[in-house]
Amino acid sequence: MTYSVKNLDEMIENAANRPGFIKAMWCGELACEEKLKEVAGVTSRCIPFEQEQISDVCVCCGKPAKNMLYWGKAY
Ligand SMILES: [Zn+2]
Repeated sequence: MTYSVKNLDEMIENAANRPGFIKAMWCGELACEEKLKEVAGVTSRCIPFEQEQISDVCVCCGKPAKNMLYWGKAY
């Protein structure tokens, strides 16, 4: 079960309330990965071979996104 989110609020809300994996855009910065772990409790799982353009900007910082990543809840 995967679903996509476009911004940080959606990421936090979905990570807290729905099971499964989250698809979200990422700028490539380690700082954003760390922030997402801190505020949403998710870690990056993989960069899918088939990329989808969910949005143009990073779900965390709003800068131009490089990749779509799968994120999963860290336990
Ligand atoms: Zn970012």
